[in-house]
Amino acid sequence: MSEDINTPPSLYTAREPVFPRRVKGAFRSLKWWIMGVTLAIYYVTPWLRWDRGPHLPDQAVLVDLASRRFFFFMIEIWPHEFYFVAGLLIMAGLGLFLFTSAAGRVWCGYACPQTVWTDLFIQVERWIEGDRNARLRLHRQKWDGEKLAKYSVKWLSWLLIALATGGAWVFYFSDAPTLLKDLVTLTAHPVAYVTVAILTATTFVFGGFMREQICIYACPWPRIQAAMMDEDTITIGYRDWRGEPRGKLKKDESPEIKGDCIDCMACVNVCPMGIDIRNGQQLACITCGLCIDACNDVMDKIGKPRGLIDYLALTDETAERQGEKPIPVWKHILRPRTILYTVLWAGIGIAMLVALFLRADVDVNVSPVRNPVFVTLSDGSIRNTYDVRLRNQFHEAREFRISLEGAEGIRLELEGAEGDIVRVGADQTLQQRVYLIAPAGSEVAESGRIDLTIWFEAEGSGSRVKAGTVFNGKGN
Ligand code: SF4
Ligand code: SF4
Repeated sequence: MSEDINTPPSLYTAREPVFPRRVKGAFRSLKWWIMGVTLAIYYVTPWLRWDRGPHLPDQAVLVDLASRRFFFFMIEIWPHEFYFVAGLLIMAGLGLFLFTSAAGRVWCGYACPQTVWTDLFIQVERWIEGDRNARLRLHRQKWDGEKLAKYSVKWLSWLLIALATGGAWVFYFSDAPTLLKDLVTLTAHPVAYVTVAILTATTFVFGGFMREQICIYACPWPRIQAAMMDEDTITIGYRDWRGEPRGKLKKDESPEIKGDCIDCMACVNVCPMGIDIRNGQQLACITCGLCIDACNDVMDKIGKPRGLIDYLALTDETAERQGEKPIPVWKHILRPRTILYTVLWAGIGIAMLVALFLRADVDVNVSPVRNPVFVTLSDGSIRNTYDVRLRNQFHEAREFRISLEGAEGIRLELEGAEGDIVRVGADQTLQQRVYLIAPAGSEVAESGRIDLTIWFEAEGSGSRVKAGTVFNGKGN
């Protein structure tokens, strides 16, 4: 049949499903360990308890939306301390830069949630349908009882994992045992059900069906990482100068005419991205190292040295092609770029630790009321009004004495309270209106604007904080 030359060629190619073969080796073992640890952390963490006393939640890690606080074991982050979260995010970003510039896409290959859950889904698929050949056969065969039964069991298993994944996420935002009971008895907040449903659906679809397409088409990281990699970055490489010309050695053929690659396709068949690393560096490669395991196994069997596929830097390739020794790994890792990332990462970490241990248990915000800036009372005195937010981060109620500095002759009064002491409940924030009054005819009352400081001192503990503000007199 002849092609219609007026029809432009289609730019769309249907996805070829990838059925990675099982492989054993050092990198596969490392991936199993990382998968086990990361999944355990994710699923178990909301169930860990941490005693913080009678007034506070006992969940070790909790984003407490109701009281707007983040609990992480002994650390408690209040909304005004969001800079800690920002600092952690910056550290995570710098850590990613550091690992990428040193060892390419190791995050993608080993610890990214997309990789971890896809790996888990593939393993479940393998348990139910068999290894690569059996899965390929089942995929190609027409729908019958066997295919329907195996696919049903697989999809149901994926759905249960996805449900557990979506469920675990919401437990980070509320007391896990209580929320589980509420979810099961259909009394939880609708937002919880919607969140679980969305995360269940995305986990099921991303891990079960889209798999490598998320990494290749949806994730921006492969594009960004190129800026962090250079010729010293260790990534996956095929020693073509050793492997080519590839092919199976026939009887009577001299071993010299062929390279070490016997074109067995083992490296391609185990690849979760469905690529052939012998074609060179590719955007799709997540540097998971499974092709190294597969090829090393083949090399062992045919009595050739391991490392035909290996973690390699471009500079190593150049050196090896010229018959020189590769550069030691530590020289690839210790270079200005990685040292800079490490110094920045450690600097932010140390600064955050210092800030964490030096932070006060009290926080205050003083806002002068601007409309009007002052009021003349019936006796001629001048009054300024301030709205104070006093946050007591102690885990017990405290009394705070309020005093002035740099405000000679100014009197302090509290709305609805006698004297200069306010009481704030444990882990509570008090909204208090404060008046500063300058007597009629006094220098302060007649003056323009003067700077002053308001101190808040917790009775008994000695903890105190201050807030700078201004007093506006008649001359303002
Ligand atoms: S596993 Fe090794 S020998 Fe087999 S095709 Fe791949 S590179 Fe060649
Ligand atoms: S080519 Fe090798 S390292 Fe890259 S994704 Fe495939 S198996 Fe992993």
